[in-house]
Amino acid sequence: MRRLNTIRAICLTPLLEETLHVDAVNPRTGRVDFQFEPTGLAELTALAQSARERQVDWASSGLNARIQALRDFARALKTRGEGVTSALTVDTGRRADSAAEVSGVVDAIEHWCARAPFVLATPHPEPTGLPFVDAQVTRAPFALVGAIAPWNFPLLMSFIDTLPALLCGSVVVIKPSEVTPRFVTPLREVIAAVPALDGVVNLVLGGAEQGRALCGLVDTVCFTGSVATGREIATAAAERLIPVHLELGGKDPAIVFEDADPKRTAAALCWGATANAGQSCLSIERAYVHASLFDEISDRVTTAMRAMTLSAPPAVDGDVGPIIHAPQAKKIERQIEEARRSGARVLCGGRMVRSGGVWCEPTVIVNVHQRMRIMQEETFGPVLPMMPFRDEAEAISLANDSVFGLSGAVFSADAKRLARVAQRLDVGAVSANDVCLTAFTHVGGKQAYRASGLGGTRMGDRAFARFFRERVVLDNTSLARQPWWFGHDSEDAGA
Ligand code: NAD
Repeated sequence: MRRLNTIRAICLTPLLEETLHVDAVNPRTGRVDFQFEPTGLAELTALAQSARERQVDWASSGLNARIQALRDFARALKTRGEGVTSALTVDTGRRADSAAEVSGVVDAIEHWCARAPFVLATPHPEPTGLPFVDAQVTRAPFALVGAIAPWNFPLLMSFIDTLPALLCGSVVVIKPSEVTPRFVTPLREVIAAVPALDGVVNLVLGGAEQGRALCGLVDTVCFTGSVATGREIATAAAERLIPVHLELGGKDPAIVFEDADPKRTAAALCWGATANAGQSCLSIERAYVHASLFDEISDRVTTAMRAMTLSAPPAVDGDVGPIIHAPQAKKIERQIEEARRSGARVLCGGRMVRSGGVWCEPTVIVNVHQRMRIMQEETFGPVLPMMPFRDEAEAISLANDSVFGLSGAVFSADAKRLARVAQRLDVGAVSANDVCLTAFTHVGGKQAYRASGLGGTRMGDRAFARFFRERVVLDNTSLARQPWWFGHDSEDAGA
């Protein structure tokens, strides 16, 4: 008999009468092996209210106390995080990446805690241009931040904006994806080991209904997910006139010039296209290779991808994990089929392996053209379409021919060309002679261009600025009457 693990969400009030339980599918078996009760609207509202009240103490506790609380959380994740890793492993069907998610949050905590004292120090007074007026700027954190996360990196994406928000003095309600809910209970146990975080980091369970409700309750929203949902959230935020930060999809290009190191480039492209089975917003999803190097690079990438193994049953290890959310596999399949029908040639892979869950073979496709879906729409699978180009201008134009503008990569031995091309790509981050470097560092302002997002950078020191407003106090230190004071004093006004 099928065994269902049932957990209780923060609240037990169903949002909709008929939505008593939500099923979660195990990506390795394709079977429902977990159910949860989504957080009800009344409970979500009450939670938001109590979080708001809790925020007053959290903000006034001071930066050092907040840093201490987050470092305690990092310690708790290190010592008690096994349950989180195990649950993430089931949620996503992958092991190494799940452990990396937990250690990634630990590292991120240290990064933000180290930067916060510098970035959040009281700003220096600014000269006002008026000798008798002093200006002092202070910062007021948004009380309640909503963080809505996708399924591809459930833990990392839940905390990526949460950490700087907490350090600013905000409290956060996180809504992870309903596709990957198992890690929530063990995570809440780890959070409970840090009393200072009680009511400060809050997790709710559910899908679009809960996400919508959350957007109606918070002071600012940090959303990571699809373009379609991002649009809906931006519209809801516009109605309430609250700031919204959107980190959406991508179709990251790599440009390979004729002087690039073929071995190194091919290895990087292979990794960039297949890591996490291609289910990363910053995966390399298109490669434009100089015509003189095209055959060599496509051969090398094909050889490397052919050598990769699926971690499909009976194998528990292997290079490529399952597609976490099965409907995504259908989209990948459709893109590959459409490309094939339009004359593309699949050099390796190109098939879905269904063995309970769904695995996509690492795939290299050539003979593609720009108008194919596989060159325009996000694929979110281990698939690399490759196209030759003749000169720099053409490469830039092809790379920029996209609705997306997340990030990209350029390979060349010519440092001047690297710098020049990077400045002409309409994206928020460029890796030079490598791929996906933004996944490994929190440093460097990086904004999402075009349909890849909206709002200030979530990386680098400026990321803190998402979570506070500034307030200037202008102090007139002179006793003298000022020229703009007219009409207030009947004697002065000559009445
Ligand atoms: P999604 O938009 O379907 O869902 C994301 C989250 O939004 C989930 O928690 C979901 O329950 C919630 N949601 C759905 N409808 C909502 C609504 N109307 N209001 C509020 N919340 C709602 O996205 P997904 O399929 O989970 O994630 C995959 C996408 O995320 C890909 O496009 C990927 O590129 C993108 N992504 C982007 C980044 C980045 O940093 N730019 C990082 C990771 C993933």
